Amino acid sequence: MPYTLVFYEAFKKSFLYFYPMNKIEHIGIAVKDLEKSNALFAALFGESHYKIEEVASEGVKTSFFKSGPNKIELLEATNPDSPISKFIEKKGEGIHHIAFAVDNIKEEIKRLKSEGFTILNETPKKGADNKLVAFLHPKSTNGVLIELCQEISGND
Ligand code: ZN
Repeated sequence: MPYTLVFYEAFKKSFLYFYPMNKIEHIGIAVKDLEKSNALFAALFGESHYKIEEVASEGVKTSFFKSGPNKIELLEATNPDSPISKFIEKKGEGIHHIAFAVDNIKEEIKRLKSEGFTILNETPKKGADNKLVAFLHPKSTNGVLIELCQEISGND
């Protein structure tokens, strides 16, 4: 392969052919009683949750499960104004959001905004599990609440 072509292929790989949303990072499920649901999901997966974390700013207590390479987040409201309380009031318990891993959350927010999606928080905030997170309004995504999350590195 001529040198210029090799260079071009490398360039394409590094800049053009990136995947903005790398993978599903986790699926969030709204529950009324975290303790009961922890027992239920432990029975389902044959393995207990590996962490519990409260995100006071969001009014939620979360627990995380692993199923092979996949991750499930259970969310319980810690106060009546929590988005999880409101969700359960309206729709009952169930799938609350799907979270996608991104490398650069600020760039993703810009990209998705320019595509016409409604971003609920344009400034990423600290979520559970050492992540910076942002949400897309379900009205702009066929009724599905989408979370973007970027791992917080030691330098942030
Ligand atoms: Zn989540």
